[in-house]
Amino acid sequence: MPTSSKVASEPNDFAGIVVRAACALCKGVCCKHGDDNGYIDDGALVRVRLARPGLSDEALLKLYLQRIPAAAYRDSCIFHGKKGCTLDRSMRADICNSYFCGGLRAYIDSGAVPEPTIVIAGDTEKMRVSPVLIP
Ligand code: SF4
Ligand code: SF4
Repeated sequence: MPTSSKVASEPNDFAGIVVRAACALCKGVCCKHGDDNGYIDDGALVRVRLARPGLSDEALLKLYLQRIPAAAYRDSCIFHGKKGCTLDRSMRADICNSYFCGGLRAYIDSGAVPEPTIVIAGDTEKMRVSPVLIP
């Protein structure tokens, strides 16, 4: 029987500021594998159900369908809209709430002392740079 999963929280220290800046600049490259299901799995669905007792199958489906943006990124997740993911964290799969790409994971795990930081993201032709992030 599927079980509910907890909603992983975002880092809320300076690392979280760096993470949000990086993901905004990157525009969600890692979401491209979300395809037409956004990684939605049993754990996420059970969690949503528990938070909304009495939700019918149809209502659950509608809850997700109405989050599909009018325009999504080409060749990316169906919930990847212009301003990022259109799902609340509580509606996402665990992998979406806890995944960090290699660069970000290395930064978080390094336990780096907060210091003024610049984030650079993109490929060589479309490099994007954040303002200086101050702890
Ligand atoms: S985790 Fe990495 S690849 Fe994914 S959106 Fe953030 S910076 Fe981009
Ligand atoms: S559900 Fe949201 S976070 Fe997950 S892959 Fe799709 S756009 Fe990215």
